[in-house]
Amino acid sequence: MQFLKKLSVAAVTSVLTTGVAHTAEPTPEEWFNAGRQTVIDAKHLNPNVRHAKNVILFIGDGMGISTITASRIFDGQQKGGHGEENSLSFEKLPYLALSKTYSVDQQTPDSAPTMTAMVTGVKTIGDSLSVNQYVAHSEPNGNVIDNNKLTTILEQAKLDGMSVGIVSTARITHATPAANYAHTANRDWEGDADRPADATVPDIAAQLVDFNINGGIDVALGGGRTRFIPNTITDPEYGVAGKRKDGRNLTTDWTSKHRNAQYVWNQAQFDAIDPDTTDHLLGLFEPSHVHYEADRLAQDKAGEPSLTEMTTKAIEILKKNKNGYYLMVEGGRIDHAHHAGNAYRALTDTQQLATAVQAAIDKTNPADTLIIVTADHSHVFTIGGYPQRGNPILGLTKGVGATSPDLDLLGFPYTTLNYANGPGYTGASYDNKSQIIQPEGPKTFTTPMTPAWASGNEGHVPSKFDPAHGRPSLDNAKVGAPDYLQEAIIPLGSETHAAEDVAIFASGPKAHLFHGVIEQNVIYHVMAEALGFAEQHPANEHDEEHRNKSAKHHR
Ligand SMILES: [Zn+2]
Repeated sequence: MQFLKKLSVAAVTSVLTTGVAHTAEPTPEEWFNAGRQTVIDAKHLNPNVRHAKNVILFIGDGMGISTITASRIFDGQQKGGHGEENSLSFEKLPYLALSKTYSVDQQTPDSAPTMTAMVTGVKTIGDSLSVNQYVAHSEPNGNVIDNNKLTTILEQAKLDGMSVGIVSTARITHATPAANYAHTANRDWEGDADRPADATVPDIAAQLVDFNINGGIDVALGGGRTRFIPNTITDPEYGVAGKRKDGRNLTTDWTSKHRNAQYVWNQAQFDAIDPDTTDHLLGLFEPSHVHYEADRLAQDKAGEPSLTEMTTKAIEILKKNKNGYYLMVEGGRIDHAHHAGNAYRALTDTQQLATAVQAAIDKTNPADTLIIVTADHSHVFTIGGYPQRGNPILGLTKGVGATSPDLDLLGFPYTTLNYANGPGYTGASYDNKSQIIQPEGPKTFTTPMTPAWASGNEGHVPSKFDPAHGRPSLDNAKVGAPDYLQEAIIPLGSETHAAEDVAIFASGPKAHLFHGVIEQNVIYHVMAEALGFAEQHPANEHDEEHRNKSAKHHR
């Protein structure tokens, strides 16, 4: 298995060293005609005003716009192109809007209130899952939770006779998947032992298995086994103990309570699932999160399916329902790689999400299926410097016409991808030194620094200054290694989320309703409109469209 990891290192290095000049550039006439063709195509774009039979909501956790751009270039360079001209699958969807991600109490949000906004239509406070803003953080009283819970699109879909599925590379009880089916004021209460002993609100894993609308959840695939298994039982793959103290084995509860139900935890069992005879599938492939896509094949002991395989299997099971389905798919570990300050795994997991979206496009009919691809929030991840066209995205910045990497004021090269904060700080403050390339400095200059704002030179910095610490001496072999941590300005053990808007891509029925810069909770309202739920809502009685329609929608 070790050779597989070595192979992926080699693949990265080859992208880095092959550099530019892979493909012939378009001529000026070809640039002009391609631009014109895009407008002609747009003129023929007709909004699909029908109701949706199915909705698939893809979330790239932490997949900000800079992550999408860098992944597009990374993917294009792996295919042998310059990279910039490439498009990820979801970038070709016809409709686009920007999403404002702040929560009721956070300028920069976490995944709990952001997903709550998307699946309930209501913004709430940090760490809260599908309960309103009036519930105090960590409210333990189940009655208070019940009285303030927000109905989710998944619950409405079940009430309407549809099938529902949840797929994630994170623990299936993690914030993004959990907001779909659970109601709680602390996203960390994933298992019963995670809560205070006197809490009466059920833990998130129990809420998944005990979900009782119309026969329960149909498909749940991801990680997080330990929250489903009692502490008296050891994990089948790694031998670690389960984390439940209430004695429940939720994996056997799943198979005994549902009809035609299966529980699987490895690749062979997953592959053996026949979608035609399985109506309820629970798959938990790791004790915690499943592996990064870059590590999955080499590191998983018992084998685990990719996000694309999980998405495909989910659709095959859910599509048997003639009333349609709601499916949420999360690329949950883009976020984790960024928190670790490791761009390589963030980009490869984004690439895998794009592959999963393409699989969904291939398996559905755009006339009846609304597909949405968005992020819950961004990260402090940047693409900088003035690299030349086709410069390896994970490599050192090399300018137009240059034969060697550009140098900073200390005389050191630097990467195109960086973080504003995180473990990649080069001042050697982080204890994970095995992954930090130590600085060369401090280098001391004797000439006093004249600030750019005082020098009258339009923001160009002076040629010399006196840094507290030096930067590391880098080469493309170091920065191209999969474990390299891109440099960060501020030393933090975990790189942070960012507050700027994220993109929403969409195709299918009502996708044209995504336009402009919108609040994140509008995503729910487009899904509800597409599925005909908005017309059933008492608050919309005066809606003009509602008056002109029969009570029950047609899908
Ligand atoms: Zn995060």
